[in-house]
Parts: sequence; C-alpha cells; structure tokens
Amino acid sequence: VGDLASRWATSRVRTIPDFPKKGIQFRDITTLLADAKGFRKAVDELVQPYVGVSIDKVAGIEARGFILGGAIAHQLACGFIPIRKPGKLPYRTIGESYQLEYGEDRLEMHEDAVRSGDLVLLTDDLIATGGTAKAAIKLIRQAGGTVVAACFAIDLPDLGGAQKIRDMGVEVMTLCA
Ligand code: AMP
Repeated sequence: VGDLASRWATSRVRTIPDFPKKGIQFRDITTLLADAKGFRKAVDELVQPYVGVSIDKVAGIEARGFILGGAIAHQLACGFIPIRKPGKLPYRTIGESYQLEYGEDRLEMHEDAVRSGDLVLLTDDLIATGGTAKAAIKLIRQAGGTVVAACFAIDLPDLGGAQKIRDMGVEVMTLCA
C-alpha cells in the first residue's frame, strides 16, 4: 500500500487511550467503517493485491475481522469463513488455544469450513503480537487449507506480530501502522 493510501486510512482510525484497560491504545476502526468513502477505499486497498489471485475463501477473525472479511470476500467473489471465540459456532468445531499476556484465549472454526486444498485469505482489523492470527493460521492449516496471505487494516509493528506471521511463511499486507 502506498504512503498516501496509508496516511489516508490512518487519519480515519480513532485512538482511544486506556481501553479496554490502562496502557492500551485502542485503535478504533468504527470511524473508518462509518465513513462511506473510507470503508470502500480501505476494502479496495486491502483486496487490490489479490485481484486475479486464486483464493477460495476469506477467513475473518471475530469480531471486526467479520466486517472487513465479508466485504473482501464479496469483492473477490470468494466464500467467507468466521473464526470465532469459543462456544459461538453451532456445528462441530476444531479449536486452537493461544497465550495472552495474562492467561489464555482460544479460537474455533467449523470443522468443515475449510476443505483440504482450499486457498484462504485471512483477515482481521489489527495485528499486534500476532498470537490471534497465528492461532487462526494453525486452524486453517489443520483443516488442510493453505493460507495465501493475511491482511489487516492496522499493524502495530513494535509488537512484531506481522514478522511472526511472515516467519510462518505467510505474506502479510497492512493498510496502516
Ligand atoms: P494480537 O493477537 O496481539 O495480534 O492481537 C490482535 C487482536 O486483538 C485483534 O483481533 C485485534 O482486534 C485486537 N487488538 C489487539 N490490540 C489492539 C489495539 N491496540 N486496538 C484494537 N484492537 C486490538
């Protein structure tokens, strides 16, 4: 993504200090999503590298990854897969737990959401430490899918998540830092 597009998106994301707890600078994309041109351009920029690339499914991580992922899947004419917090999906699931700063979290996916050989584009609003995206990639791989790339509206590069995902052999694309 070019500098201009990146600055343009950054200016539409709101930062809330100390949410949901002290010390976190929460990057709030609702201001970007509520802006008609902003939402459209953000999705256009995110899909641009993948137009014409063979992708079967877009996987979005709960919850803000659903908003971007749904729009991206529509634009690329792909299916959409929700990757969710535990206990939310109605059918049989596979799950992957991962470490947080304090404690543990877990992601789940329907066991038949990804078919063996599926080419999947992963998306979420933001990558920080990369723990969430890493768990999602493991789930997709466990189901026999290939993660073609992972795209995020926002990267927090100081936390090193994008590099961790690249180290797993997955290309990473972000709109702004
Ligand atoms: P991580 O697993 O550390 O890469 O965290 C990424 C996940 O946590 C994403 O689903 C984000 O929505 C959320 N997240 C982490 N840090 C922030 C932040 N500073 N602002 C908004 N969302 C965040």
